[in-house]
This record gives sequence, structure tokens and C-alpha cells, in this order.
Amino acid sequence: MSSSDLSSAGAGHGRRCAPAVALLLAAATLAASVPAATGQAATRGGAAGAAEFDGARAMSWLERQCALGPRIPGSPGHAALEAAILEHARSLGLTAHRLPFERPHPYARETLRLTNLVILAGRGSGPCLWIGAHYDSRPTCDRDPDPARAAQPLTGANDGASGTAVLLHLAELMAAEPPPRPVALIFFDGEDLGRAGDLDGYCLGSRRLAEHWNDFGAPLAGPPPRGLILLDMVGDRDLAIPQEGYSLALAGEWTRTVFARAEALGLSAFVPEPGPAVFDDHVPFLRRGLPAVDLIDFDYPAWHTAADVPAACSAASLEQVGVLVWDLIRHPPD
Ligand SMILES: [Zn+2]
Repeated sequence: MSSSDLSSAGAGHGRRCAPAVALLLAAATLAASVPAATGQAATRGGAAGAAEFDGARAMSWLERQCALGPRIPGSPGHAALEAAILEHARSLGLTAHRLPFERPHPYARETLRLTNLVILAGRGSGPCLWIGAHYDSRPTCDRDPDPARAAQPLTGANDGASGTAVLLHLAELMAAEPPPRPVALIFFDGEDLGRAGDLDGYCLGSRRLAEHWNDFGAPLAGPPPRGLILLDMVGDRDLAIPQEGYSLALAGEWTRTVFARAEALGLSAFVPEPGPAVFDDHVPFLRRGLPAVDLIDFDYPAWHTAADVPAACSAASLEQVGVLVWDLIRHPPD
């Protein structure tokens, strides 16, 4: 993501994908290396004993993503994570969709191949709740003060892996306890290729989906969603999430609904006060008139530096966000 009052720089360079066999192996390894879901998530369900969001479980998904290496579009790590997300949905019995597309690379004379992913869950025909996060990571640590480190790819523990980790654990909970209404987990590609001062290089996957979500036959087609909840940079050990500026300005009712739930749940990481405006994957949907809120803590010194590693994140922070979203999935707002 980028903010108009904060500068960033950096360029991405695509790499060839690893062979398909290697991808499947990586996916299986990733799934196997994450501990089995806790008993409460795997075996409980229904009114007697509910599945609960487990921050430690989400943290293990964050760490395993980082262990894959950079998830830059076109890299082996990106391909392995895409395969792992699809295998995760399949193993849980949930429906998953690949939404591949091509577009010119914003900074290189090559075709960029990106893939948004959608996992569907839930019952009934009420309005769908969309939960999103970007699963790509940034090609460089361009805000790092050390020039040598600034040229390296971002680990993206918070910037990328944190939101994706929450979604991967939510998939497990929804498999154990199907939601009362439809839910779509959306994994956006190509969020973080942008350069300083060039918003056009950011949010490539969400721009594409915002233009085509209601195409005939598309997995999200149908009545407009109840709303999009975007999770980005939600793993900061020192988590404080204000009401992001674009969300508040263009989807105030939806933003206040989500924050009111956080307050009712006593989740102290959520601060119901105006925060900075951050250009992120929710903006293309806001521009199309769809309600969207970005849950983001942009006060993160490690942003786009080599210090954005798992040690800068915590299970407790992921749990604050996961508990809120899981409650909104179980008890959808009217
Ligand atoms: Zn970023």
C-alpha cells in the first residue's frame, strides 16, 4: 500500500515460476509444517462448543509464508504460496477459484501474470461478506536506511503475510463451523509493486477484481456484497488500528459498524478515531461504490524495510483482528 503523504520507492523484477511438481511439493510441505488445527477449531462446532480464533495458529501461518522466501509475483515463493492456499482450501472441503490475468508490467517491458484467489464458504443466500488481504510481497526494502538491505526483497511478515495468515485460519474455522451467510476470502495479487509517488503501480489485483467481480460466471458475481473488510499490516506487535481515512470518508457507515463490533467485543487494538488515508486494495472497490473498510496499522517503523520480519509481529495482535472478523462472519451485521 502507499500513502500520499509518505514516500516509497522500489521496482519489481519478475522471475520464472518453478516447475509444477516442485510447487505441489512446496504446498504439501507448507501445509504439513503448520501444526494441526487446535481441537476446538477442528472438532467443535455448533452452539454447544464454538470454534474460536487462535492467534498462535494464525502466527504459524505467518511464519510459514515467510519461510517460503519472497512472494514477489513471478517468483518461486509466490507460486508456492498460491499452490498452498489452493491446497489448503481443497483439504478443508471449501471451494476455491483462481482468477488469473495478464497486464503490462508497470516498470518493465514484460507481461505481468497475476492471479487473484477466492475461497467461498457459508450458507444461505443473504449478502456476501468479503474478507480480503494481499498475498504478494514487495520486491525491495526500499525504505531501509541501509542501501545494501534496501535492494533486498521484503520478507513481508506484516506487509502481506499477516492478513493472509488471518484468512488462512479463518478458512479452517469456516470449515469447522459453516457461517450462516456466504463469505468470500479474497487473496489479492500484485498489491505491492508500486514505486514512490506512483499510485498506478499499486493494487493491481484489486483493481482488476473491482472491474470484473460481477462478470457473468465470476465467483463473486451477484448482488453487491454486504461489505469488504480488508486486512493489511495487522500483525504489528504494538497494534493500534484507527479508522483509515478513505474507508471513513467513503464508507463511513460500514466502517463504524465494524469498529462498533470491536468495541462490543472489548478488543483494545481498535481505536475508533480517524487515522491516515492509505491507498490500499479497498480503494478500487470504494471507487465503484461498494462499502469497504481497511483495517490497517500504518504506524509501523519496519514498513518496507528489512525489519519487517516475524519477530516484529505477534500472535496476540493477529488474534485481536481474527476474533473481530470471525465474530462478524458468525453474526453478520444487518
Ligand atoms: Zn507494502
